[in-house]
Amino acid sequence: MPDIRPRSNSSALVLNATYEPLGVVSVRRATILVLSAKAVCLADGDGIFHSERHTLPVPLVVRLTRFVRVPYRPYVGLSRRPIFARDGGRCAYCRAAAETIDHVLPRSRGGQHQWDNVVAACARCNHTKGDKTPAELGWRLHVSPAAPKGIAWRVLGHRAPDPRWAEWLDLAA
Ligand SMILES: [Zn+2]
Repeated sequence: MPDIRPRSNSSALVLNATYEPLGVVSVRRATILVLSAKAVCLADGDGIFHSERHTLPVPLVVRLTRFVRVPYRPYVGLSRRPIFARDGGRCAYCRAAAETIDHVLPRSRGGQHQWDNVVAACARCNHTKGDKTPAELGWRLHVSPAAPKGIAWRVLGHRAPDPRWAEWLDLAA
């Protein structure tokens, strides 16, 4: 196997031949795509790839040389990791590190398990809140829960994007 030692960032963004973002792969995988001419490097990452025949910067963004058709995933599954990612890993009530998922309108009172009714919460707030609503406790939500949308979610899922990918991801989409 080639010797690939990325310095810091260990992921590369993969774009389709049309420049549409497709996903994130390891730097190792991206380097192999480039060396096998399945992709071209659009932006260099940190670190240098060395082999007997090649010395090149590890890729940060690569673009496939041939178009691939991918099934469209419009819906982000409602599970702990994407909820934590959406809410920045912070408790929606006190901004402490989140450890649990809270239903804003408690399930015991008809609250649904849906994106607009779930937030990341610390264990203490979740326990204190119990079967009450934020209004009953005089609590304020620091996030407005909503289903995530946009290309970044489809591509990244729960991963935090490398800021240097921004121009390729169109994070405002
Ligand atoms: Zn809290």
